[in-house]
Amino acid sequence: LIGSQQVDREVPSVCPFCGVGCQITYKVRDEKIVAVDGRDGPANHSRLCVKGRFGFDYAHHPHRLTVPLVRKPGVPKDTDVLRNPALWSEVFREATWDEALDLAAGGLKALRDQHGPRSLAGFGSAKGTNEEAYLFQKLVRTGFGSNNVDHCTRLCHASSVAALLEGVGSGAVSNQVADVAQAELILVIGSNPTANHPVAATWMKNAAQAGTKIVLADPRVTDIGRHAWRTLQFRPDTDVALLNALIHTIIDEGLADRAFIEARTSHFEELRAGVAAFSPEAMEAVCGVPAATLREVARAFATARAAMILWGMGISQHVHGTDNARCLIALCAVAGQIGKPGSGLHPLRGQNNVQGASDAGLIPMMLPNYQRVDDPAVRAWFERFWGTPLDPQPGYTVVEIMDKALAPESDPHKVRGMYVEGENPAMSDPDLNHAREALAGLSHLVVQDIFMTETAWMADVVLPATAWPEKTGTVTNTDRMVQLGRQAIEPPGQARPDLWLIQQIAARMGLAWHYPGPDAGVAAVYEEMRQAMHGAIAGISWERLEREGSVTYPCLSEDDPGQPIVFTDSFPTADGRLRLVPTQLLTAAERPDPEYPLVLITGRQLEHWHTGSMTRRSAVLDAIEPVATASLNGRELERRGLVAGQMATLQSRRGEVRCHLRRDDGTPDGAVFMPFAYQEAAANLLTNPALDPFGKIPEFKYCAVKVSP
Ligand code: SF4
Repeated sequence: LIGSQQVDREVPSVCPFCGVGCQITYKVRDEKIVAVDGRDGPANHSRLCVKGRFGFDYAHHPHRLTVPLVRKPGVPKDTDVLRNPALWSEVFREATWDEALDLAAGGLKALRDQHGPRSLAGFGSAKGTNEEAYLFQKLVRTGFGSNNVDHCTRLCHASSVAALLEGVGSGAVSNQVADVAQAELILVIGSNPTANHPVAATWMKNAAQAGTKIVLADPRVTDIGRHAWRTLQFRPDTDVALLNALIHTIIDEGLADRAFIEARTSHFEELRAGVAAFSPEAMEAVCGVPAATLREVARAFATARAAMILWGMGISQHVHGTDNARCLIALCAVAGQIGKPGSGLHPLRGQNNVQGASDAGLIPMMLPNYQRVDDPAVRAWFERFWGTPLDPQPGYTVVEIMDKALAPESDPHKVRGMYVEGENPAMSDPDLNHAREALAGLSHLVVQDIFMTETAWMADVVLPATAWPEKTGTVTNTDRMVQLGRQAIEPPGQARPDLWLIQQIAARMGLAWHYPGPDAGVAAVYEEMRQAMHGAIAGISWERLEREGSVTYPCLSEDDPGQPIVFTDSFPTADGRLRLVPTQLLTAAERPDPEYPLVLITGRQLEHWHTGSMTRRSAVLDAIEPVATASLNGRELERRGLVAGQMATLQSRRGEVRCHLRRDDGTPDGAVFMPFAYQEAAANLLTNPALDPFGKIPEFKYCAVKVSP
């Protein structure tokens, strides 16, 4: 513990890792962060997990990019990944800011002018601020001239958002995590909250201690299972079977909330017909959960005073991810478990600002606040607001952009140039060999980041940016809380704020923006974004954020305290009703077979964050989990003549990796689990790029692999 008297200053901010949005205090001595403490924020009440408490020294790591870099002529963009800074000078030379920015913007402009607006694409970041996300999508839409802008929401909850927009008219949560204290039952499905949303998990555990029933439904039995009333370990890929069996039971046993269904939903008869064949007795053989247990859980959910569903990427990252989320919406609706305390739908958002980046329009089919680009009235409003015509066609999504980068020269929509701000698709995309080939094949790639990521390694121009403690801005957590983080330290060397860099690229592409004020005009950008998102954050001024630190949206006036629970009277759909959508069984795009007999499930672990660029450069976190592992249960290891601790090769039809084996008896028979944070054993070399047709999310949670010693 480091007390106030031992530091030069204490700066209030927000944790830069997961979507829980814990408020923190940076403790700074001699211009370095030396400790982090939890603050009494509304999402964490001073609690922090190991990442929030110890994952700060990445900002001071010697690998930080401190000078603009330009690729040397003739150096091939091979896909070898090199992190050793001693080798950078063989590939890149240092440049002045003016030269680097001129080259970065000039290359993009030349491609746009020669091949048209859709020859360019941009990936923004869920780890940047709301202001950066807003300005980045504005740059792509008004400067590049197309809607080819996306970010990693496409890889985490895009299918959940697709189902939520269709079903309830809003892509955000209905109730906040802390509401679990009001619930009689909570269903945690496709989520490992102890690892991925650890402070949120503590509220669930506290609720369980106070008598709330936790039902864990997941192919993997994870830590939260120790606190569960019932655990439904269903077979991977059978979510729809399991959930439709619960809905079937509620309707079949007369437990449906008829008053709620009649007053507040539509298409109930289609849903009833759709689940008729999904009796628990029929689905037991499909999902592997006894029919009696399915009926018991369905009864408990329907008859609870309040029941809430929290889900993660186990639901969303399937080719049937949107169907999975449709089932969750229908389950809540038929039981009348939405629109009141302790109930509702909560997709646990992954990154610290994936909610805010999506809200700000960093997605190819939506302008800020989920207003569709193909709606003429919406587009006309933004054309007036931004003073320029907009492309009426939705843009390509993350995986589609990679496919378009590899399209033949004759394709009029071939993507030839990209601006990647703070994302690392060379680690996070599915089928990495394909994605890396696409990035390497671009005519012009600009990467803005704090480290030489696997993506930056293939760039033509690398722009050194600021880490989270080096800037002021807002982020929006999984609970719809807009929160202000303040700059605690100066950026190293010549690194510059992301917001300033986006404006510099915009100016060189002919955009006459003017955002006056300190911190690259962050307050002015926020206030413009507030106008673009008036339906959500009209009442959250910059001054209010400086005063209060955190305000929940929807918040429509300065005296509105914000609405932690929504849908209390109606849904923001065209008719004000929740739309029920029946679903049918759809199997994974690639099933195990004699050659590739195991199912690969990818995900995260407690100590490491996403592609590892920050947490693997945080000394404490990397010391706790220093090497890549693949987990199988003890029976599966023995059956295959493998032992925990040995090195093994994992192969799929798309690639192979070598890593250590770990025994985890929560992993189901016939499956192997791998985190995707390790560049030396990148799990996404193995994964399948098959997409959910609605959310366009890849099937990270299911592909066929083999494991050999
Ligand atoms: Fe940070 Fe999430 Fe941990 Fe909170 S729970 S400290 S937001 S990583």
